[in-house]
Amino acid sequence: MKKFDYMEKYGYEQLVYFYDRETGLKAITCIHDTTLGPALGGTRIWNYSSEEEATLDVLRLARGMTYKNSAAGLNLGGGKSVIIGDADKVKSESFFRAFGRYVESLNGRYITAEDVNTTTKDMDFINMETNYVVGLAGKSGNPSPITALGAFHGIRAAIKYKFGSSDISKYSYAIQGVGQTGGYLVDYLMDASVKKIYFTDINPKNINKIRALYKDAIFVKPEEIYNLDVDVFVPCALGAVLNDETIPLIKAKVIAGTANNVLKDEEKHSKMIMDKNILYAPDFVINAGGVINVYHEIHGYIREVVMKDVEKIYDRLLDIFEIASKEKIPTQEAAKLFAEQRIAKIHNIHRNYLRK
Ligand code: NAD
Repeated sequence: MKKFDYMEKYGYEQLVYFYDRETGLKAITCIHDTTLGPALGGTRIWNYSSEEEATLDVLRLARGMTYKNSAAGLNLGGGKSVIIGDADKVKSESFFRAFGRYVESLNGRYITAEDVNTTTKDMDFINMETNYVVGLAGKSGNPSPITALGAFHGIRAAIKYKFGSSDISKYSYAIQGVGQTGGYLVDYLMDASVKKIYFTDINPKNINKIRALYKDAIFVKPEEIYNLDVDVFVPCALGAVLNDETIPLIKAKVIAGTANNVLKDEEKHSKMIMDKNILYAPDFVINAGGVINVYHEIHGYIREVVMKDVEKIYDRLLDIFEIASKEKIPTQEAAKLFAEQRIAKIHNIHRNYLRK
């Protein structure tokens, strides 16, 4: 991989490799764009098969965070870290503290948080060496209920745009995945007395939990979730679930959920969805509740302010749907345009000199 060519193509700022002799820590941090503020993105531990694979992952994820943070209206750039290793074997206090010292050395250009295979406990160790970390125990807390709440507002926006009414109770839903975010989303939908809910999962514990709580929620097998006769398909499990095989099956007129990277091929599958006249709520916009939640740790966490910020996902999505309709482009592309335009505008106002 020609790293500088790749960085040039997508406008990356920095790619940093770090190795710690004592703990064997091998970390890579990528800072994509800091026009709006320090780059924020979680730290993922993964047993990558090669350095190349890890590098490509961190580059891709950091760029995704630039879009997500910008579209969420946050004063944050996009970044990410990956640590190469088996999460069950490498974790220890010294390992994360070594990582914390490395984050500190980036001098605030990058702020870390939890991601796949890292927890609030790990962030607390990192915090012993640096303040450039959020998602700490006892601060913003578990992001999943907030992410689900953001998606709830996003669903309201999508049905308003598609069907003319944001009254969530009038419609039917198919939820794929009732783990953390999907489980909370079912709570919000049930509280709103929706017409009908179907759900699926592969984890018996999570299935039984929903069954026990909500007698009216109908369980279907994982492969049956796509072609149900419902108004809204709600992906809350895996990535790449919207693809050549599944899109032709979908009868819902709205797709809106918490899952990341749901489009297998962003360009091709967002277009396929648009051509089927289905309204798709872009994943990185509708599931931004979690990052909005941790962002507020930086400036002092006030729950009510966070809730108000999360509610803005509703108007933001309506704006994005409008751009897509006007420009005749898929909503995913419109969301990217929305994020890029914000970065360009803020970059331009920063041209004027201000003495610090
Ligand atoms: P989770 O692991 O708690 O829940 C995922 C659920 O999906 C599990 O119950 C799992 O059994 C189920 N599942 C897995 N494969 C399935 C399949 N083939 N069919 C049906 N169900 C299946 O994870 P989560 O935190 O709820 O995250 C879900 C998605 O939301 C992920 O894509 C994640 O990246 C995204 N997301 C989460 C947050 C957050 O705050 N947790 C924030 C932003 C985005």
